[in-house]
Amino acid sequence: MIGLAYCDRAGRIYYDEGLEPLADGGIVRPALRDELIPAPPGSVEMILPGRRALTTHGALRGKYALAAMLPAGYTRLLVPAYEKEANAPTLPLFGYTFACVIDDELYVAAMKTDESEDWQPRYFADGELEALLERRTSADPGNRVLAQVALCSREYGCFTAQNVFLERGEAALPVSPKCNARCVGCISEQEPETGLASPQTRIAFETTADELARIGIHHLERVEDGIVSFGQGCEGEPLLRSIVIASAIEKIRAARANGTINLNTNGSMTRGLERCIDAGLQAVRVSLNSFRPHAYAAYYRPIGYALDDVLASIRLAVKRGLRVSLNLLTHPGVTDDAEEIAAMTAFLREVPVTMIQTRTLNIDPEWYFDAVGRPREPLGMRTAIAAIRGARVAVGNFTHTH
Ligand code: SF4
Repeated sequence: MIGLAYCDRAGRIYYDEGLEPLADGGIVRPALRDELIPAPPGSVEMILPGRRALTTHGALRGKYALAAMLPAGYTRLLVPAYEKEANAPTLPLFGYTFACVIDDELYVAAMKTDESEDWQPRYFADGELEALLERRTSADPGNRVLAQVALCSREYGCFTAQNVFLERGEAALPVSPKCNARCVGCISEQEPETGLASPQTRIAFETTADELARIGIHHLERVEDGIVSFGQGCEGEPLLRSIVIASAIEKIRAARANGTINLNTNGSMTRGLERCIDAGLQAVRVSLNSFRPHAYAAYYRPIGYALDDVLASIRLAVKRGLRVSLNLLTHPGVTDDAEEIAAMTAFLREVPVTMIQTRTLNIDPEWYFDAVGRPREPLGMRTAIAAIRGARVAVGNFTHTH
């Protein structure tokens, strides 16, 4: 029996196995048993303020919907269903996942889609991280990028920023203070009228190729199969600064032949990407929420480009032999709409990318549905993931070197 997990107004959690909860997969419905797994270690429960829990018997007064936030390595299959009270606030930018109780244990609607030691939760002894940051930044005091990733390590707990100081795995190289998109759920800059704080503050300066290259070279000197990645959560669109990135790549490759040079981008500027590839870029991860122009435009609100430019960049990177991943911002009811799956598989059959990272989109579900529309025919997130694999494309959540 799938039972209800809910909260009282104070956020205390309760289980009622006599009530069957409803979930939202674009259409409100009961969850299927095989869409549910025990909540994995690292899951975080959250009350949804002003949102009454919804069951097969209707909405419950004084009982608020509970959601879970999944740890890295999992893909969300359903969002919670609820009835919104008047004046309920817009929810902050988190990945709200349907949660329920089975045999007195918390379950979530999710699927394990990747494994990586480097992305397990991290715990630092008192002062340990600060000492690492201090030792490294004092060795290169004028490097503003180093100061930025130190801030991101300390304030946001960013793994790729911390890797710069831990000298392991994938290291962050943020580049651009500006962006040519206005994503509804942007994590580095929210428009004032949303009333929401962005989880990170966007960098405020234009980095130099020297600053970037110094960090890249230092990292690859110490991490044989390391990754250095331009394009991070704390910035805008890196391709707006492709000349600087190309110059940084040349400086890094003049000093180091090992490791992988990667770029995370919205893929908007194909000529800029070509410039980086000519300089030695080896891998690229292109972010998108949809393969349908209207749903893409409704979320990204692009300035001076369109989905076709993004798809052209992906084609170029595959043609040039790069390791190409797509950072698919997934949301039940959008990613698994029949039309979306058809558009996605048609593209993947034509353009064989290496991997799709099924990223849980962090946004208030109703805000997102208002922006891109509810589905005509949601087929279920597992069907969407099976379609990716059916197109012989790997599914994962992290950038791997091999
Ligand atoms: S592309 Fe990135 S930086 Fe630009 S608006 Fe979207 S989320 Fe923000």
